[in-house]
Amino acid sequence: MPSSPLAGSCLCGSVKFEVTPPFTAFRYCHCTRCQKASGSAHAANVFVPSAQFVWRAGESLIKHYDHAPSQRFAVSFCAQCGSRVPHKVSARDDYLIPAGLLDQAPADMPRPQNSIFWGSRAPWYVEPHGMPCLNEYK
Ligand SMILES: [Zn+2]
Ligand SMILES: [Zn+2]
Repeated sequence: MPSSPLAGSCLCGSVKFEVTPPFTAFRYCHCTRCQKASGSAHAANVFVPSAQFVWRAGESLIKHYDHAPSQRFAVSFCAQCGSRVPHKVSARDDYLIPAGLLDQAPADMPRPQNSIFWGSRAPWYVEPHGMPCLNEYK
């Protein structure tokens, strides 16, 4: 497992950070809130202790949304490009990092351990090994 810092950034590149393994957890979340917030079937979230996370740029561009009906659900995003960005998990010493933000993630990095809120998955969700996988946009 790599122990050197992994760099991450948003789509426009304004928000930058570094996260150092090992991860506390790495999971897909299929809850309905993650479906809305990601606009996709599930979130892919890495968690690390606060001491293993550091901002490198763009913190002033970050907007934060606390989802009022929920005790814990929150979303941070880059105000310039709309990408989700990491945030400190409330009442826990962890940062949540959307895994897709990692730049040049090493091939040997830890894999997701599980999918949570599986019972809430989108009714249209198909596991990828059940469909053709193409390398180009089609
Ligand atoms: Zn951005
Ligand atoms: Zn979720």
